[in-house]
Amino acid sequence: MDITVVKCSSGQPANRPPWDVYFLKLAMLASERATCPRMHCGCVLVHDRHVVSTGYNGSLPGSPHCYTDGCLVVDGHCVRTNHAEINAICQAARHGLSLLGATAYITNMPCTSCAKALIAAGIIRVVVFSDYHNTLAEHFFTEAKVELCRLPMPERTIHYELEKYSSARPFAEPHCDCEN
Ligand SMILES: [Zn+2]
Ligand SMILES: [Zn+2]
Repeated sequence: MDITVVKCSSGQPANRPPWDVYFLKLAMLASERATCPRMHCGCVLVHDRHVVSTGYNGSLPGSPHCYTDGCLVVDGHCVRTNHAEINAICQAARHGLSLLGATAYITNMPCTSCAKALIAAGIIRVVVFSDYHNTLAEHFFTEAKVELCRLPMPERTIHYELEKYSSARPFAEPHCDCEN
């Protein structure tokens, strides 16, 4: 068998993200599923670099969406959806997955209620790239000794260059017969 090492002339790609940026980008991607026009938020809960669960601010399973049926506004706030963090915690609960010692990657600083829920669920580190109005999150994180990291917003580009990869072949006519 003839084995040859073929070195890449350009080295590591410049856009290969570090772990924190990678998971924050996943949180941004999760936020695209949000069902309320007033806010798009995404949350990814990670343990040992393993994604335990993801969430976005969305209606209860099977319930109407704000985009189609309108926001349910109480005192100026839409209450139709669960926040992304709560949905991520609930998804882990549905599947019996522990969040003890996990890190929460969130597009925004959590609201006070979500911050408390994350702490109670066992989250020990929170990584965000933007702030949230009227939140006491930092107060409770400090009290609970939860590490808080404010990173810059990751770039919004996903670098998948299908046409450039020598082993990949684009479909001539993509199609799917599934009911999704
Ligand atoms: Zn809404
Ligand atoms: Zn919240």
